[in-house]
This record gives sequence, C-alpha cells and structure tokens, in this order.
Amino acid sequence: MRMLKTAAAGAVVLALAATATACGGESGTAGDKPAGGEVYSGDYKVASGVTVDSPVLKKAQAAKKIVIGVKADQPFLGFKDTAGTYSGFDIEIAKMVAADLGFSEKQIKFDTIDSNVRETTISKGQVDFYVGTYTINDERKKQVGFAGPYYTAGADLLVRREDKSITGPNSLKGKKVCSIVGSTPLQEIKKPKYGADTVQLSKYSDCVKSLLDGQVDALTTDDAILKGYAAQRHDKLRVVEKPFTKEPYGVGMKKDDKALRDAISTALEHHIKNGDYEKAYNGTLGKSGSPFTKDTAPDLPLPRY
Ligand code: GLU
Repeated sequence: MRMLKTAAAGAVVLALAATATACGGESGTAGDKPAGGEVYSGDYKVASGVTVDSPVLKKAQAAKKIVIGVKADQPFLGFKDTAGTYSGFDIEIAKMVAADLGFSEKQIKFDTIDSNVRETTISKGQVDFYVGTYTINDERKKQVGFAGPYYTAGADLLVRREDKSITGPNSLKGKKVCSIVGSTPLQEIKKPKYGADTVQLSKYSDCVKSLLDGQVDALTTDDAILKGYAAQRHDKLRVVEKPFTKEPYGVGMKKDDKALRDAISTALEHHIKNGDYEKAYNGTLGKSGSPFTKDTAPDLPLPRY
C-alpha cells in the first residue's frame, strides 16, 4: 500500500519554527506553506534473510533497528514535521535501501545530522549510513565511503523575489551570502573570485530566515534544496537558476565497510531499475520544481568506489 503524507503539519508555524531554530532547536522547519501539497511516501518490499559481511549491518540486524542520518529542514528532500515524521526524496532513498537490507520503515531510526558533522558521525558509527544531500568528492572519500551517485544537483542562489541585482555567481561582489558550515557550496563561494561576504551558519533554515529578514542578500547551496524553500515561500523567494557547480549525491557510510557499500549500491540500482526511484522522485523533488528527466536519472551501473 502506498500512502500520501501531508507536510502541512510541519510547515504551518513559521514564527514558531523560526524561534525554535534561533534558540538552537533540533530541526528547523523553514517556510510556512508546503507548496505542492502532499509529499509521496512509498512502501518498499522488505528483503528477508539478508547476509552481508558488514560489521555495521550485523550490529543493526542484532538490534533489529537501523540508524540513518538525514536532514530535517530541507522540504521535499529531508524534512521533519512537527509530528516528528520525516519526508522527502532522501527519506525515500533511505527507506528503499533499508528495505533491501532487510529493515522495514518501522525499524528505521532517523537521526537529524547537519552538514558540518557528517564525517565524524559516520566514522564514529553513530549512524549506520547517511542520506542527506551529501556530495561525493575526493576529500570526503578519504574519511567515509560512498554509494551512488543517485542524483546530481548544482550550487545555485536563493534571493528575495524583488531583488533583481543578483543574476548569478558573478554578481555577488560585496553581497552578504549565507551558506552552511561543512558544505561544498560554502567552500566554493568563499573563493576570492566571487568577492562575496560570506555568513556561515549550521542550519539551512537559519540561512532562509536571515534572507527573509534582510540580514543577508542570498543563500547558496544546491538548487534542489533551494527550490524547496522557494516553493514554500513563492511570494518572497526565488532561485536564480544559474547553477555553478556539480553536486553528485551519495549515500555515506563507514569508509572501511566495503561490503555495506556494495550492498547499498546494488539496492540503489534495484530501485532505479524497478521504477520506485522515479515514482518517489516525482512525488517529492518533482513537486518543488526539479522535474524528472533522462538527464537527472542516474547512469547505471553505479560506480563501485
Ligand atoms: N551537497 C552539498 C554538500 O554535500 C550541499 C548540501 C549539504 O550541505 O548537504 O555539501
């Protein structure tokens, strides 16, 4: 059975959410309306008798529970509503992979992990794997393992709707640009060639709040994330739509657990081939202005890192 969950509960109270994040609340719920209405939530067939020579998986099997690190303040990607329910494309990817590893949705514990602590959380074994707009790159590969890419985004800019002065990454001289500690778009925008004055925060929802309040002029991160915020605050925010990096998303796991890495790659391929991926995509990311096309579909077979 497939269900449609509404994200409305999580998005009604902008004022409260803003206060919570400003006070260091656990997850931000930026935006007051989930434009696009319902977010898809699929049921995936749970595999039985899974044997993988992975220490992480064996421990999870013994505990009958798998811990997955995700984001909580990215509408249509990884979003936690006020009832504590997670929804979005990354959440669906996490559920598909967990199902092939033998875990039902009820056996998943989602943990909200921000960008700046991903590598340490994964390496210390505080999560079994991670699905949260996580760009695969060589620097990170020194610390963690990756399966994927299951999607490729690009860094872009979110601005106030009425601001016509920002037209792309080359119009940021002297502008205050918010981005997230530990994220690749922040590293990019800090390059002197852009001349931007960067403001570095640890939660995306706090950057959105600063943009709405006029404390910063733009927020830079992946277009897929920004489109979710723009969809929620269409009256106030817009995405510039001039992507200037490539951000291939991977599932992160412990670096030395090759068996788990391969099992997750196989699980991703399985759900891309059987249509689950496209259905989940259309019901989540597809609703916030990143339509599914042949170009956004991952190339198969996936690389084995
Ligand atoms: N994909 C980028 C990264 O992994 C930005 C999004 C994020 O912070 O998760 O750094």
